[in-house]
Amino acid sequence: MNEQHFRLAKTLVNDSYMKQAEESRKRREKLIRKLFANRKLPKDGWDEVTIRLFLQEIASMDSNNFIGNVGAGEREARVFSNIVRERNYSLGHGIGRSGDISAIQPKAAGSSLLAKLTECLVLDAIKIAGLESMKAALVVPVATGMAMTLIFLSLRTLKPHATKIILSRIDQKSCIKSIQAAGYESIIVDNHVIQDEARTDIKSISNWLELEADKILCVVSTMSCFAPRAPDDIVTIATLCQTMGKRFLFKLLSNLYIYIYIYIWLNIVWTDVFHIVNNAYGVQSRQSNVWIESASSKGRVDIVVQSTDKNFMVPVGGAVLVAKRVDYLMKVAQIYPGRASAQIHIDLLITLLQMGQSTWRELLRQREELFPVLKNEFSKIAYKYGERLLDTHHNPISMAMTLDQLEAKGFPVEFFGSMLFTRFVSGTRVVARKNNKTKVCGIDFPDGFGAHCTNYPHSYLTAACALGMTRQDIVAFCDRLDQCFQEAYKKLELPKDDTRTFMD
Ligand SMILES: *Cc1c(COP(=O)(O)O)cnc(C)c1O
Repeated sequence: MNEQHFRLAKTLVNDSYMKQAEESRKRREKLIRKLFANRKLPKDGWDEVTIRLFLQEIASMDSNNFIGNVGAGEREARVFSNIVRERNYSLGHGIGRSGDISAIQPKAAGSSLLAKLTECLVLDAIKIAGLESMKAALVVPVATGMAMTLIFLSLRTLKPHATKIILSRIDQKSCIKSIQAAGYESIIVDNHVIQDEARTDIKSISNWLELEADKILCVVSTMSCFAPRAPDDIVTIATLCQTMGKRFLFKLLSNLYIYIYIYIWLNIVWTDVFHIVNNAYGVQSRQSNVWIESASSKGRVDIVVQSTDKNFMVPVGGAVLVAKRVDYLMKVAQIYPGRASAQIHIDLLITLLQMGQSTWRELLRQREELFPVLKNEFSKIAYKYGERLLDTHHNPISMAMTLDQLEAKGFPVEFFGSMLFTRFVSGTRVVARKNNKTKVCGIDFPDGFGAHCTNYPHSYLTAACALGMTRQDIVAFCDRLDQCFQEAYKKLELPKDDTRTFMD
């Protein structure tokens, strides 16, 4: 409805009522104008009517929704089911073109606009959370692990002779598989245990770089992880990546002939060691973002990857890449073969518009506030059963308590997690202290997989205070945890050979 429409409508309906309606319409228009002008999260979240109106307006810009449009191509966003059309707000063209996931589609001005806006808003949200120096964001319709693979593939052109990637050990299969899927050999650098924490082995990473900087594509560090692993010492890794690449180049130069010198000079990027940060659910932690910012100002941080579902309360399926250098993100966008679903963008855009700056900040604040509450309640339960909270003070999201007493009394602690699950507690993780050799993704872990390091001296249970957790969740969780301990101890009083009861 524009001004002219309202003028005409006023001859049908009482003038003053129509005027009020026009005012309301103008307010909505103002919100949309501000969004286009600022390209930032709205100060306060939008109401649902405005969001639907906006989405409809966007959908009407795509050719499949043009009045009287005839499609004569093989990709005309034809949708059979109305249920599916509604689920997609009549947006059917997806994003990107065959050669580039962030390219504008001539047939779909609306979808292209939606994709660009989403990236602006998500970048703003990430900056608000603390990654202030990031210049650009790329939303990809694949989850974190696959996004890492895309990054490695895109870096290949910048360092064609590299064959290896250094991964500061994180016992999460997708991290290892992301390297293998890209065709690289992973050098997994074990963590060492300092007090209770599994921490980055900087010396070892430095040694690898000293030896083979020309063959190493990048170092992957991880900022959000299960306790007892701490986020990586990212500042030191970032400075190592920056200095080692150059040092290695000089070493080559001092040994070789002048024509090789020129050859290398022409391919100076060859000895760059990139630094990719897996920040899967780290956006929600101010501390984690402070470390990344510091690393990125003191050394090199090339691309930071975050999961959309773990940070922005949307269904699984996407990742956001942020970087200071736009060209690195463009490389990733270009490596993606083909078009892609717009669903991730749609979900993110709706969510961010509905949250607005105020709710986003409030969610972040609540999480920071609840983290020590969970830690406190969690450690009380630990204390009650002779266990203790592991001192993992560098980890700002996940925490762990020992299950050593329970284990010492003969309880098979690996069942403890499933006991919680049957009490409708999801997301905890039990790692038993064991020395079983395992093979994960073809790689040997002589001391088992799960604790992020060799010879971790405790069996433990983890819990996380993540975005969206409430005070009621904490109370209910600790209550059920308490019940599980009681039940476990009750089971211990049963005859020793009755193992079946442990599994019930
Ligand atoms: C969740 C997670 C992954 C895997 O993420 P997907 O989104 O399932 O690919 C990798 N690393 C870390 C640290 C994670 O938390």
